[in-house]
Amino acid sequence: MNLDTPIEFVKGVGPKKADVLKTEAGIHTISDMLTYYPFRHIDRTKFYTISQLRDDLYQVQLRVRISHVEMVEKGRKRLVATAIDNTGKMDLIWFQGLKWIKNIVKPGQDYIIFGRVTQFKGAWSMMHPEMEILSEKALKNAFGLHPVYHSSEKMKAAFLDSKGLAQIVHTILQSPLDPIPENLPPYLTQIIKLPSRAESLKQIHKPSSPEDLQKATFRLKFEELFYVRLKLLMQNKIAKRTWKGYAFTQVGEYFNNFYSNHLPFQLTNAQKRVIKEIRYDTSAGKHMNRLVQGDVGSGKTIVALMSMLLAADNGFQACLMAPTEILATQHHKGISELLAPMGIEVELLTGSTKASKRKIIHEKLQSGELKFLIGTHALIEPDVVFKNLGLAIIDEQHRFGVAQRAKIYTKNQYPPHILVMTATPIPRTLAMTLYGELDISVIDELPPGRKPIQTRHMYDARRAEMYNFLRSELVKGRQVYIVYPLIEESEKLDLKHLEEGYEVIKKVFPEYKISIVHGRQNAATKEAEMQRFLNKETQIMVATTVIEVGVNVPNASIMVIENAERFGLSQLHQLRGRVGRGADQSYCILMSDYKLSEEAKTRIQTMVRTNDGFEIAEVDLHLRGPGDTEGTRQSGLLDLKLADLSKDQKILQLANDVAEKILEKDTLLQAPENQILKLELHKRSAGKTIWSKIS
Ligand code: ADP
Ligand code: MG
Repeated sequence: MNLDTPIEFVKGVGPKKADVLKTEAGIHTISDMLTYYPFRHIDRTKFYTISQLRDDLYQVQLRVRISHVEMVEKGRKRLVATAIDNTGKMDLIWFQGLKWIKNIVKPGQDYIIFGRVTQFKGAWSMMHPEMEILSEKALKNAFGLHPVYHSSEKMKAAFLDSKGLAQIVHTILQSPLDPIPENLPPYLTQIIKLPSRAESLKQIHKPSSPEDLQKATFRLKFEELFYVRLKLLMQNKIAKRTWKGYAFTQVGEYFNNFYSNHLPFQLTNAQKRVIKEIRYDTSAGKHMNRLVQGDVGSGKTIVALMSMLLAADNGFQACLMAPTEILATQHHKGISELLAPMGIEVELLTGSTKASKRKIIHEKLQSGELKFLIGTHALIEPDVVFKNLGLAIIDEQHRFGVAQRAKIYTKNQYPPHILVMTATPIPRTLAMTLYGELDISVIDELPPGRKPIQTRHMYDARRAEMYNFLRSELVKGRQVYIVYPLIEESEKLDLKHLEEGYEVIKKVFPEYKISIVHGRQNAATKEAEMQRFLNKETQIMVATTVIEVGVNVPNASIMVIENAERFGLSQLHQLRGRVGRGADQSYCILMSDYKLSEEAKTRIQTMVRTNDGFEIAEVDLHLRGPGDTEGTRQSGLLDLKLADLSKDQKILQLANDVAEKILEKDTLLQAPENQILKLELHKRSAGKTIWSKIS
């Protein structure tokens, strides 16, 4: 038998169980079974005495003698046994299987018992303990760290509960298995002092000690993260070597003129730094693939604009793509206004651009007359042909898939430089694994003079108070957003909430005008409503999350989020970022029900505590795990079985540093001692589309 042996050939498994293992847990081979890691271990290395019991012990093991057994009929019928040791006494209690247990629990007999202890009025008890008659053999069997595995209902029905799975693993580890091959080179395992793969796979299931378990876990996590980083870094390095890119060799008239005469404010240091990074990247004749992370309001637009000017200075066209029509329109408006004094024309192309206009745009793009195009994904359609596209900027990138990014690559002879801008701060661990093939810039500084947004949490009972507060701000000429949840655009119920909310607001604020925007409206209506709000014709904007991304109305200073408990953290943060864009003190009010889950409470408290997007992203990662963070699911990069990106930053950093070092010397992994790495990389990416070819 070896790692590739089908699971049904393991003694005690057979075709029926094998089927369940395959469909329920994806376990097809011995290797799959051995990497079906336990999610925790039950510690039975220690025996407690009754006097040592504490409330915070999860499960404990004791050696006791039964002194008395009694069936209690009063209240819920139960069997109560009194257990004693030299230090005290406790009760063992059963509610089920009473007859059977009465026969096996004998006064005067010594047992090993294991279970959860609880204390009531100073007396300790254990319900439904696991127990065995005390003997040398029983002691030996019980002793150790026992693995606990996840198991589904269907698995349990096929005797594949945690114990059943442990039995299979045990059988595998006891049988004459071919040596488990190592997948890290000896020079690595020696330097970092990692146990062998074979040893680690044994220890993680049935550790000989907590220390050995810790070592094995470390090794297997390292292995996972190391290969993720090795692959991404290699892609990045190879792309840099092989992809020719357009060289923006000079900073010219466009850039300089704008910088000296038309920049409406001083750039922050962070903005300057990022523009420099982009300059450096694009000047070298290599293809740029860069992600710019910057919290909402950090001023990404100006960075985009100045990069576009750089492209123009070098004879190239540039385009900026936004995820929604509203956003594209707003970018177009803002950027054309900034460029108008310089006589630079910018066109807008979206799904609702009229055919006649479209035709003109197409012509001007092909002739090169038009330098800058802004739009939605309409601008990556095949019929949009550029004369010489040198830079494509994608705003709010999580809405665009990798495949869409790839389309841009074909828009010129060499792939245009790519700048991806996201306002969803991503914790470093995620960035390293999700966007590992991109270089990353961070705008970690807000423009000066901003007053931090004040965030409050209010229960529905304080609604009248909230309305009074809104009125006091409206009177000062401010504008207000009121946002309702809309998880799915098709959820009728949510739309109803929104519409009811709208009716209420109309009644409460008869003296003010109200805009309403939601996903069911057509683009023109949405746009018109937004426009009215932007022009201050309306003072209150009732909306769903369609306004979440990017919309900029500096005079709006209050964001009310209804049913805040239904929003995710990153969404709440995005929404809050709609205010605080002007000079006035801004507020975010989170309205919620009284009934809040622990998670919802943490989310709301986090929002009240901090405005820092990166901190919020870290909390989000801890709450939901990486699988739920936006963009991770489709990435397919995160089939991590053991490593946890919310906890294993240090291991990831180590894995990254080691991978960097190796690739620095041997980018293509050609050295004999690195063949083992190459082989494993191939194995790990078998059957997967490698986007690296294009991104
Ligand atoms: P985001 O990063 O969220 O896209 P924007 O680019 O929309 O942010 O910028 C938010 C606001 O801050 C805009 O009104 C913009 O004009 C302004 N802004 C950007 N950079 C600066 C700066 N360096 N100084 C002052 N205001 C700035
Ligand atoms: Mg923006």
